[in-house]
Amino acid sequence: MFTWEQNVRKVVPYVPGEQPNQPGMIKLNTNENPYPPAPGVARALKEISSDRLRLYPDPTASVLVKALADRYGLKPEQVFVGVGSDDVLAMAFLTFFNSGKPVLFPDITYSFYDVWADLFRIPYACQPLDENFRIRREDYFKENGGIVLANPNAPTGVAESLSGIREILDRNPDVIVIIDEAYIDFGGTSALSLIPEYDNLLVVQTFSKSRSMAGMRIGAAFGQPELIKYLNDVKYSFNSYTMDLTALVLGVEAVKDEAYFKETTGKIIATRERVKGELRKLGFVFPDSQSNFIFATHPDIKAKDLFEALKERKIYVRYFPKPRIDNYLRITIGTDEEMDELLSFLEEYVRTQG
Ligand SMILES: *Cc1c(COP(=O)(O)O)cnc(C)c1O
Repeated sequence: MFTWEQNVRKVVPYVPGEQPNQPGMIKLNTNENPYPPAPGVARALKEISSDRLRLYPDPTASVLVKALADRYGLKPEQVFVGVGSDDVLAMAFLTFFNSGKPVLFPDITYSFYDVWADLFRIPYACQPLDENFRIRREDYFKENGGIVLANPNAPTGVAESLSGIREILDRNPDVIVIIDEAYIDFGGTSALSLIPEYDNLLVVQTFSKSRSMAGMRIGAAFGQPELIKYLNDVKYSFNSYTMDLTALVLGVEAVKDEAYFKETTGKIIATRERVKGELRKLGFVFPDSQSNFIFATHPDIKAKDLFEALKERKIYVRYFPKPRIDNYLRITIGTDEEMDELLSFLEEYVRTQG
């Protein structure tokens, strides 16, 4: 131990899903989209002149902010963008959770929330989901320093109704309520429509899942102008040039193509519903997912063993060795062909090992 180590900020880092890169693998472990981004994205990528890279990008990201504002019927002052929604969420934690009171989020949810809370020294209190992995609204009625809910939740896929979100907002007028809608385009009802009514609501979305652009790192937050202004103040105070030029240009292209967005999210939803039926036939049990993944368990099979067996076959899913969920696998919805390969493996596995 060096003496200086006493003064190092020690955090337990977030551990992302593996990023294997093997020929012939089926990658269903990090909720990426199996379809390419909108065709306009590829076209624009070819057309970006490298000469433009000499110059700094627009710090206000105005083209992307405007495209998102237009798409969602908001004013540009109601839109904040960042380098993936992870950046946006971290910025929101830093900006809004300074009361010293605990921030509330579920015990089973996106595992970055407690990492940021630790990093920024924000106290937090995890609220246990019920036995069906649903939030208990009344858990969020007590005194707190802010609330963060992923809706639909990860890794369960369970969606909370708009009336549930509304009730939580009504009970918490004095703190910021963040709704992380990383998966909202696959089902569930967005809280965007509540923005005019609640000055304390921040809705966060990402291009990583429904818009097939995880590699580009684009996220956004929506709220009333005062909230957005505070976020921008914090962002500009330490890094104004957060989004690169390519992300801005390509992000706009993705937002513009509504037809393609509908088509690909629709395909994923259809595949998900079909896979739900097939998994049920094999005896798997899971909460009713409204996202691009299914969080499944099987009464006769150990999730960890199945996880390893799938990996042998180069089929990657996500396993969380955590209390309450260590007998579940989170399976991202891929193409129909990918899911058929998964299902035929599972059928054999259940028959021989179950
Ligand atoms: C994937 C995900 C994010 C982060 O996505 P980015 O790639 O950083 O935009 C945020 N919240 C949840 C719940 C997610 O699943």
